Amino acid sequence: MDTYQIAVIPGDGIGPDVTNEAMKVLEALQELDDAFEVNFKLFDWRSEYYLQHGQMMPDNGLDQLREFDAILFGAVGDARVPDEISIWQLIMPIRKQFQQYINMRPIKKLAGIDSPLKNGSPIDFMVFRENAEGEYSNIGGRLYQEQPQEMAIQNTVITRQGVERIAKYAFEYAKKNNKTKVTSATKSNAIIHSMKLWDEAIEKVAVDYEEIALESYFIDALAAYFVMRPESFEVVVASNLFGDILTDLGAALVGGLGVSPSGNINPERNFPSMFEAIHGSAPDIAGKGIANPIAQIWSAALMLEHLGRPDLAAAIVSSIENVLQEGEVLTPDLGGNSTTSEVGDRIVEEVKKQL
Ligand code: ATP
Ligand code: MG
Repeated sequence: MDTYQIAVIPGDGIGPDVTNEAMKVLEALQELDDAFEVNFKLFDWRSEYYLQHGQMMPDNGLDQLREFDAILFGAVGDARVPDEISIWQLIMPIRKQFQQYINMRPIKKLAGIDSPLKNGSPIDFMVFRENAEGEYSNIGGRLYQEQPQEMAIQNTVITRQGVERIAKYAFEYAKKNNKTKVTSATKSNAIIHSMKLWDEAIEKVAVDYEEIALESYFIDALAAYFVMRPESFEVVVASNLFGDILTDLGAALVGGLGVSPSGNINPERNFPSMFEAIHGSAPDIAGKGIANPIAQIWSAALMLEHLGRPDLAAAIVSSIENVLQEGEVLTPDLGGNSTTSEVGDRIVEEVKKQL
């Protein structure tokens, strides 16, 4: 019997709605595979918790999470709490303390999804975004405020070790999944210190994988190639900022935020990894019961893959595809008029047929 202990942080807005559907799908798998068991523990660390306790999670919050096999995270964001607090007191401490330095984001056009690209080519690649350093540092500052020479300096942190470890993860992933090349996003023609180190560190790792090609494009050109020939990519590795932009672009090519999953991975498995839809709490549709749960259900599939059950992950993804292709039970973002839980229930039905 494989029993997995999952910490669930539903969060704010549509987070609880979509997370609930993901738990339903995981529970359905359990009914059908006697050897698979999943236990959930829910944590109410959301903006409401902050308003009551003055912090997003208790002082020992990270210790409470540490022993779980994985974390399923909804979303946080609430008009009453500044974003800095919900992000820097909850999401960032989890990512940093648990050394989740890889952000994995599949860019895959599922069967039944319309892309805004008209050539209809298949789109199926993986983006690994550096999640621990890079451009999103808090090093820097503002000088000469309110004066004509006012300026701001924002430093980027790129370390050789930081780039080598994500490059190695990308190449290992390519090798394991029979991919032929890894594409690196750079800008070393203009960002001549940090991006040159990025290039050098990736090239060094590539030497150990002679069966896998390394190609490197400047980020501006690469963004254009994502649109012009997305079918040509297999594995993409990018810094924090470049990866952020590329994955939003990629998500738009394959159906949008409602169907875009992600994982924050600690490759060494010393700590739990965390899985979440890339969308936020979507305050505009919160409480209406119409959020698309597919991104979060697919994130749960990524979690199962990480936990060593790619068979169950594949069963979830093909169930989602069956529901999309049938096209009858869809949320409004995909042109339907069904509710979050109707879509979840429909996917559960398909899962039960699979096994
Ligand atoms: P946050 O501050 O929490 O990141 P946000 O304002 O950035 O929230 P997102 O949650 O990222 O908003 O959503 C952006 C847009 O996409 C919103 O219009 C939202 O309604 C829509 N959206 C996001 N997720 C979904 C979903 N699962 N289903 C349907 N629409 C969604
Ligand atoms: Mg957002």
